[in-house]
Amino acid sequence: MVKSSVLGFPRIGPNRELKKATESYWAGKISAEQLLETGKSLRLAHWKLQKDAGVEIIASNDFAFYDQVLDHIQMFNAVPERYTNLGLAPIDTYFAMGRGLQRAAAEDSPAIDVTSLEMVKWFDSNYHYVRPTLSDSQTFRLAEKPKAVSDFLEAKQEGIHTRPVLLGPVSFLHLGKADRNSSVDPITLIDQLIPVYQDLLQQLKSAGADSVQIDEPVLVLDLPDKTRAAFKAAYKTLFESSNLPELVVATYFGDILHNLDLLKATPQFKAIHIDLVRAPAQLDDILQVLAPTQIISLGVVDGRNIWKTNFENALALIRKAVSAVGSDRVIVATSSSLLHTPHTLASEAGLPEEVRNWFSFAVEKTAEVKILAVAATAEQDVAHELQSNKAAIENRKNSLRTNDSVVQARQRELSPDLYKRKSEFPVRLSAQQAKLNLPLFPTTTIGSFPQTKEIRLARQKFTKGQLSADEYEDFIKKEIAFVIKQQEEIGLDVLVHGEPERNDMVQYFGEQLTGFVFTTHGWVQSYGSRCVRPPIIVGDISRPKPMTVKESQYAQGLTSRPVKGMLTGPITVLRWSFPRDDIHQSVQAEQLGLALRDEVNDLEKAGINVIQVDEPALREGLPLRKGTEREKYLDWAVKSFRLATSGVSDSTQIHSHFCYSEFQDFFHAIAALDADVLSIEYSKSDSKLLKVFIEDAYPRHIGPGVYDIHSPRVPSVEEIKGKIEEMLQYLRADQLWIDPDCGLKTRQWPETIAALENMVAAAKYFREKE
Ligand code: GLN
Ligand code: ZN
Repeated sequence: MVKSSVLGFPRIGPNRELKKATESYWAGKISAEQLLETGKSLRLAHWKLQKDAGVEIIASNDFAFYDQVLDHIQMFNAVPERYTNLGLAPIDTYFAMGRGLQRAAAEDSPAIDVTSLEMVKWFDSNYHYVRPTLSDSQTFRLAEKPKAVSDFLEAKQEGIHTRPVLLGPVSFLHLGKADRNSSVDPITLIDQLIPVYQDLLQQLKSAGADSVQIDEPVLVLDLPDKTRAAFKAAYKTLFESSNLPELVVATYFGDILHNLDLLKATPQFKAIHIDLVRAPAQLDDILQVLAPTQIISLGVVDGRNIWKTNFENALALIRKAVSAVGSDRVIVATSSSLLHTPHTLASEAGLPEEVRNWFSFAVEKTAEVKILAVAATAEQDVAHELQSNKAAIENRKNSLRTNDSVVQARQRELSPDLYKRKSEFPVRLSAQQAKLNLPLFPTTTIGSFPQTKEIRLARQKFTKGQLSADEYEDFIKKEIAFVIKQQEEIGLDVLVHGEPERNDMVQYFGEQLTGFVFTTHGWVQSYGSRCVRPPIIVGDISRPKPMTVKESQYAQGLTSRPVKGMLTGPITVLRWSFPRDDIHQSVQAEQLGLALRDEVNDLEKAGINVIQVDEPALREGLPLRKGTEREKYLDWAVKSFRLATSGVSDSTQIHSHFCYSEFQDFFHAIAALDADVLSIEYSKSDSKLLKVFIEDAYPRHIGPGVYDIHSPRVPSVEEIKGKIEEMLQYLRADQLWIDPDCGLKTRQWPETIAALENMVAAAKYFREKE
């Protein structure tokens, strides 16, 4: 019989119960016991619903209070000394690593001030994991009561037999880094780490676990030789130990064909899990190398998106595997953990019925896995389910919501000149200078100004109907006027309207474009207790009417200085939404590019001469492996930006913004955007990063953030001058803009004004010196 398997379940709960409990615990409103109790009841509920759905292989240890990698850090006692020194309870040490801890001194305890461990994006998802941070004298020791074992036992006690999931040793180390003041190469620690896994696996076996899922997602990456060698050696040693449970190696988010030799070298894995949503073509090759009794776990239900699985396509893959190796050696599974999907569609009463029938969230995907497993050998038993799936897929394919013939026709007619500004940069620059008349070292900000309590309250009231559209508009106007006045008083050169009308930089645009729908409960974990509710792209995208013109125009009417229009770029809107899976992402990016082009052109017509198109998500969309895939992505990503921004005349200045400055890997793409001015988040970066601009003889203008806005601290004029001095080692005076890092919306006004005044003073100092 073909079995069904869910690689991991979202843990936050249908109503973000986990978020609420953790935050209450941090605020001192509930006890540690209460928090642990919430965790336990969520785990039980999630196991139970999988069991009730008939899923045979249910994961345990997929739950985490903050992050699953952080769980491993603690389980292996790989906690840096600065946290163990604090004398905290284990749960507090755990949160201190996840989010830092500041606590004033009390009678019986000294003050505490530790920053968090680094958090980074989990592969190409929007989930962030806590990075294992290892020292030169690193040792590993298994926790006394390892969480993986206690979670397994907890499920067992409820009569639910689970398959514990562990992050594998190679991934754990490969995803880690050396701690500050250490230079250890994490993978060299593999020999020390393996005994801990041995011990843990044996303990799981004695607890009753016959099988363990060991995630080695790094197999989808390009791995250095030393890491590949470590993989072979580590598993060779591991498999030599006695009393191990069966091991299922799980890979996801890409194919593993380039690392196939590693799996050939380790035929002892009972099963291999592959992601067939991302990389269906790998199936044939994997079937070829399967050892005689090895099982194949087919990830056919998308763990990263919200679409109903196309059963027909999935079944074709499943049948191929069944006929190659027999039904006993096939498992039907989610492509990855369902962590990246919202909890249940049942909460979405507000969605149009037609559209709702196209979706499948974690609970529904759990059911899909089971249906597919049954269908593999006994189609007639699920004939009804297969039929209604087919109907939903057909309905979506032909729906008017999906297809907009006007948009499609426009896409067919795109000509090369639409991707090119009228003139090259030097010509544009003169035209812009003639119009804008900016001084040397022009000053600006990245777009938002403090989103005060009043703003959020007014928006809430407006959403609830307690404020009329006119009243809300008046409120926003007043806010814009205030923001303009502040900036004039501070003495900034290029002003912004402050974005008070925006709830979020993607949602705000999604709500005004056709082709999007929104959920009320579709939360997914981003990091720790932070959850996001991504818009869903359901159909061809267009812009029925201007989205930002009114606000920008109003702001420009209040001042003689240039006001910068502010838009979110095509790739960022795409990446921070759930994209369609029926057309390529490049097609969706192109549609967004066209919609934004209309907006950019309308802004220009309304008298806005400086327009910024933010693309902070450009880098995270980079395919995981170098090579053609990556170049293809960069090509269409850059094109969508150019499509959006090339319709303007030479004298209109196009800015773009990135929340990072590590461009080394793909600088050619940044340069190819052909933006007149780039602002980049920089204040905490190493000045050497700016070297690529000289090496590439980058001609256009750049504004690396001169101060960090993540804390209320006000940088002095001297400090900012120092930062500018540092930038001038790598950038020409005539190409440098002076601006802060992004995200002023999270600050309060007093520190914002004080810091920007100092920034303007520093700019003036250099201006006079030149
Ligand atoms: N314009 C946005 C702001 O200033 C940019 C946000 C971002 O970079 N993520 O808030
Ligand atoms: Zn940013």
